[in-house]
Amino acid sequence: MGEYYIRCGACFDGVHEELRENVGILVRENRIVRAERELPCPRGTEVVDLSHLTVTPGLIDAHVHFDFLSNQTGGPGARFLASDEMKTLTLLYNARQSLKRGFTTVRHAGGKISTFGAVDVKRAVDAGLFQASRLVVVAHAVSTPGCHTDASTYFRGNPHLSDALQGLYPNIGSGADFARAAARREIKYGADVVKLMVTGGFASPNDGPEDMQLEEDEIRAVLDVARHMGKPTTAHVYTARMVSLLAELGITGVEHASMLDGAALEKLLANGTYVVPTFVPYEEIIREDREMLDKKTPEFRAKLLKYAAQLRQGRQVLVDAILNTELLAGYGTDIVSLYPNYDCWREFKAWRDSGIPALRTLRAATSDNAKILRRPELGSIAPGQLADLSGWDRDLLEDHEALSHCAFVMKDGRVVDQTEEP
Ligand SMILES: [Zn+2]
Repeated sequence: MGEYYIRCGACFDGVHEELRENVGILVRENRIVRAERELPCPRGTEVVDLSHLTVTPGLIDAHVHFDFLSNQTGGPGARFLASDEMKTLTLLYNARQSLKRGFTTVRHAGGKISTFGAVDVKRAVDAGLFQASRLVVVAHAVSTPGCHTDASTYFRGNPHLSDALQGLYPNIGSGADFARAAARREIKYGADVVKLMVTGGFASPNDGPEDMQLEEDEIRAVLDVARHMGKPTTAHVYTARMVSLLAELGITGVEHASMLDGAALEKLLANGTYVVPTFVPYEEIIREDREMLDKKTPEFRAKLLKYAAQLRQGRQVLVDAILNTELLAGYGTDIVSLYPNYDCWREFKAWRDSGIPALRTLRAATSDNAKILRRPELGSIAPGQLADLSGWDRDLLEDHEALSHCAFVMKDGRVVDQTEEP
């Protein structure tokens, strides 16, 4: 760390949806000191010449699952059967890959590590032990037996085995008291966000997106605990009905909301609830990409086909809201199959293919996500902000896959070595 003068080809500041030319950024230690057009370079300052690149704030992915390798599953349940140590190391591996690809911060939206390994990885990265994306952590979602995140259902043909495996996972249980205790434990051991598994899902083996998997008293219990402890809340949720209920109950945000309708959108807007819509996992059904659809597991594919019409309607509601309302919408990939978990660039393509302009998409991945993560010192290029910067050599405005190649990364005022393997 030292002092750098960064000469930008073009610059997106994370807030204003415009590219400015001839911007110079002065970085001292881990902070941005100045960022202006035609900024003179102070004598003796090391120049980083990015005049061939478009510079953005370090990007933020608000919805990743980094504790496994989604393109190497080894069959259903393998993710669950690995040791906590292996899952924790895998999380670190993925966070190192995402950093080299220009995503300086990610929110791990919950996983299958039964310990608080995700919090440990966050602490190790913050302490400078590893060069990796900065983490904001949901350790474990508060969930119920047989729900979307209960991987022991893969072994439900053998109840003894399934019960034993479920017992290893601390946050699966029933009742408002259980939910309260689970939320308190998450907060005690360092989770940044308390997450609820409210509806079923698509990738899981024996449930559906319309299933309500937490009862209202359980939901209220978790939201009360988090509110009283000053922690934000979010939920895995698909249906318009449950999105409406959660917004009314005062949840901070929701994930997916993929079957949203106009009435539920009004509730989100009225309550100031954010959405991280995670387009990537549904792209195959939205775009009718039969080849990629066939690569998903049979249960995942069958559910996508069953709910195709609702997913397409929900997508349109979300896109219209992003373009035409004040909805706070975050950028989150949620890769759990087909691609490497750290392919955070793919949500950019999904937003662009959905008709959302490039700089609007990048605003979601920068200053809007900084609001969602409650990290105001991230996500924009301005004096006083943390010096997280990414540089891109492809045409961000026209090329829907432009984020698939990152040419420069700085995190906390340090230039990241992108060549280091793996
Ligand atoms: Zn997810």
